[in-house]
Amino acid sequence: MKIAILSRKHSLYSTQRLVEAAQTRDHHADIIDTMRCYMNITSAQPTIHYKGNELDPYDAVIPRIGASVTFYGAAVIRQLEMMGVFCVNDSVAITRARDKLRSLQLLSKKGIGLPVTGFAHSLDEIKDLIAMVGGPPLVIKFLEGTQGIGVILVETSKAARSVLEAFLGLKVNIMVQEYIKEAGGADIRCFVVGGKVVAAMKRQAKLPEEFRSNLHRGGIATPIDITDEERNMAIRSANIIGLNVAGIDIIRSNRGPMIMEVNASPGLEGIEKTTGVDVASEIIKFTESGVSRNHKERKE
Ligand code: ADP
Repeated sequence: MKIAILSRKHSLYSTQRLVEAAQTRDHHADIIDTMRCYMNITSAQPTIHYKGNELDPYDAVIPRIGASVTFYGAAVIRQLEMMGVFCVNDSVAITRARDKLRSLQLLSKKGIGLPVTGFAHSLDEIKDLIAMVGGPPLVIKFLEGTQGIGVILVETSKAARSVLEAFLGLKVNIMVQEYIKEAGGADIRCFVVGGKVVAAMKRQAKLPEEFRSNLHRGGIATPIDITDEERNMAIRSANIIGLNVAGIDIIRSNRGPMIMEVNASPGLEGIEKTTGVDVASEIIKFTESGVSRNHKERKE
């Protein structure tokens, strides 16, 4: 099989591991820099060019699209889909996952447990917005934030008002969320591949005053046994967003597990090093089955 790994950097742990796992299973893998692909959108003959030449035909693409390049990355993946290449995560699912609000809306419609979340544009209804999520303490989040940046814990109504006024005034898209105190600065990352949770880890904020568990914010990861309810929730959430490979973040609340976030390009380093699971090979195995399904469908 010929696999393209769409990634901006050769040296990234996840990129390297996917190449390694593909080669171990006797596949050819190339790393293609998403941002150096360019497209020809001619009728009935979509092609992609790369560094001056038409891109070789690939059987499969594994997208690793960073948050800052979602728009262009999704266009490249869409073009590959048009060309009949099997894409491990498709462009629509990736753009859905990147929009936190859209993801939560889709999950809430299907009855998935979520913290009470508010979203507003106008400065006039701040009081009601704060009341809607149960009052302080509450969490204010940038819609486009990642790695815990732009996630703010606000302890009083006065502070909530000031922060909301500042951000709404600056036209930053934010959401307001009930604070799940009992989570104790921890969350669970479930790594889903092809409708199964292949690995799970708990992330715990390092400092007692920190509530964000992100590893980029110094969080500490340990392996964890998840409950059946959490497993089902992770699988269902990936499915609702339409992702075959996903990092589903769950928080444990007094009302049961709740979804924090759905990630379309979850990193492999933390999960593999913490759990010892060869997640990269799970992704390659899933890619193999996807390609054989794709070949069959295209013959029919
Ligand atoms: P990011 O996409 O930047 O990682 P998240 O929404 O996942 O943003 O929030 C980062 C971390 O902050 C979460 O993993 C969790 O530990 C903590 N957190 C976020 N929202 C809440 C909340 N409503 N209640 C309790 N903790 C939260």
